[in-house]
Amino acid sequence: MELLLDGKVVSENIKKKIDEKIKRINKKPYLAVLALNPDESSSTYIRRLEKNCEKYGIKFILQIANTEEEFKKNFIEAKESNEITGIMCQQPLPRSLFDLINTIPLEKDIEGITHESLGKVFVGEKNVNIPCTSKAVIETLDYYNIDLTGKNVVIVGRSNIVGKPLIPQLLEKNATVTICHSKTTNIAEILKRADIVIMAIGKAKFLKKEMIKDGAILIDVGINFQNGKICGDIDFEDVKEKAYAITPVPGGIGVVTNALLIDNIINSVKIN
Ligand code: NAP
Repeated sequence: MELLLDGKVVSENIKKKIDEKIKRINKKPYLAVLALNPDESSSTYIRRLEKNCEKYGIKFILQIANTEEEFKKNFIEAKESNEITGIMCQQPLPRSLFDLINTIPLEKDIEGITHESLGKVFVGEKNVNIPCTSKAVIETLDYYNIDLTGKNVVIVGRSNIVGKPLIPQLLEKNATVTICHSKTTNIAEILKRADIVIMAIGKAKFLKKEMIKDGAILIDVGINFQNGKICGDIDFEDVKEKAYAITPVPGGIGVVTNALLIDNIINSVKIN
């Protein structure tokens, strides 16, 4: 490996831009996090986000509901509030709430998850929040000046928050994009042809050296736990001699995603 694609460095660069924006905002950003019976890992994530918001002077309110009815009430309040500038609905949530969540107003949709936001991302509109993890992949490639023109980029994983929103962003950069999923039959063959592989499946150390070509650039979105340790979808130790560049886990796409979420929350208020 010649290049470690260090998420901490990329996120520091984003944070510098956030600090500049904060000086120019005319209203305090105010994030409402809406949860329904959050489990321990969701609660830990929310606490971390709250601390992060505090650091940037973002007002924060957590509304925990015990029933769907209560969640709906909290949602309507946040949606109609003139004070709250951004809404985040902590997943997982039941399917029965999806239609409701889809009504987050465009300017408050800091995660870019509604059909309206995603539709705008697909047609390449600029003033829209892009799902942060997918954007973190692009930010990382951009930071390290990796030109995507004419490159074969293979995404593994087709979720609405990572794989799918990556497609328009990569096309915008003139890459040739292939997307694989659990029903893809010839995945090994497809991966072997990839100049850049983006792994987002949630399977610990899935990608091995036999599956990639020499000098491939590898982006690891996966967050998994194996033997009490955090690891990605890529077997870092196995592929490191063969790949040209890799994002580590931890310290890769995850930290960039966190910085971009703060950036989206700041962007929910007018910046002079
Ligand atoms: P998801 O909604 O569970 O989607 C997983 C995708 O992987 C699906 O499209 C699935 O295919 C595909 N898949 C599963 N096993 C596969 C296999 N053996 N071969 C090929 N494709 C396979 O996951 P997600 O929410 O996108 O998250 C993916 C990973 O990224 C997870 O580890 C998650 O923790 C991590 N993540 C990280 C961040 C971050 O900030 N770094 C943010 C979000 C998620 P089907 O569609 O056919 O089922």
